[in-house]
Amino acid sequence: MISDNLRKVQQEIQDSCALVSRSSSEVTLVGVTKSVDLKQTIELAKQGVVHLAENRTDQFLAKKEKMRAFTNVSWHFIGNLQRRKVKTVINEIDFFHALDSLKLANEIQKRAEKTIYCFVEVNVSGEASKQGVAKEELGDFIEQLASYDKIKIVGLMTMAPLHSTKTEQHEIFYKLKKMQETIKAKNLSFAPCTQTSMGMSNDFSIAIQEGATLIRVGTALFED
Ligand SMILES: *Cc1c(COP(=O)(O)O)cnc(C)c1O
Repeated sequence: MISDNLRKVQQEIQDSCALVSRSSSEVTLVGVTKSVDLKQTIELAKQGVVHLAENRTDQFLAKKEKMRAFTNVSWHFIGNLQRRKVKTVINEIDFFHALDSLKLANEIQKRAEKTIYCFVEVNVSGEASKQGVAKEELGDFIEQLASYDKIKIVGLMTMAPLHSTKTEQHEIFYKLKKMQETIKAKNLSFAPCTQTSMGMSNDFSIAIQEGATLIRVGTALFED
């Protein structure tokens, strides 16, 4: 049941915050609905999860269209966005979690009709297969976004490698938090960078302990 799963996730958010003396109000739960149908997505919204995330353009647009009545829902786009799809989705989303190249930034700048709140995805682990800006290049990458008036960098996003240990997860999330604080300290108007989007079903407790402000949770909300 979604309601039982949600209660468990909310409890784990509270327990994780308590471990490090954070307030659970600092953590936003983003429900990842990419693997479930419209009915379950609506069910989650009705339970009060108003931040929803999708990663496929067609499914996202179809769901959003059918959920117009849920005016309090914010839509997050996570994962790879092909440049040729930017035009059709960018003005429909509230947050984009996977900005990782100037080519993509150029396309967003060209197509956006409003400010797009973006997270820069960082490849903290350095795995060759991972998306994201290399951590050595992050500072330069962000400074190059100064002239893109349609893009606001609200934070950084990362994913821990699939089979990482808890120790490795702590390290990756700790590093992303430090990078976020470094960018924030620059006080750039186009990159306030106050947020960290990190932690999924398997590792969100660790991400919260390391300072996550948004966690992206799918499986834990929808499993039987
Ligand atoms: C699928 C996905 C999630 C959610 O993963 P779960 O393990 O189902 O919680 C979070 N972030 C991204 C980028 C994803 O693609």
